Amino acid sequence: MDHRKVRKIYWICWLLASVIVVLGALLPDEKMQKIVIAIGIIIVIFGNIIAICFMRCPYCRGLLNLRGFSPDYCPYCGKKI
Ligand SMILES: [Zn+2]
Repeated sequence: MDHRKVRKIYWICWLLASVIVVLGALLPDEKMQKIVIAIGIIIVIFGNIIAICFMRCPYCRGLLNLRGFSPDYCPYCGKKI
């Protein structure tokens, strides 16, 4: 998987999770609130797992920075990625 694609998925997970948690916090039922917020947290964890597994340099498998933008060159081996 392309690390730029994975970064998009990672951002979408964060966005989706924030929307879900905000909407969940607005729910009147406390039990439902907890369930919805838990779903949001699961989405964040899922995004992080995908990022850690796939947001890597295709040459040396070095982990790229998870926040911000994808670098043009690998910080470990210096190859264009
Ligand atoms: Zn590298």
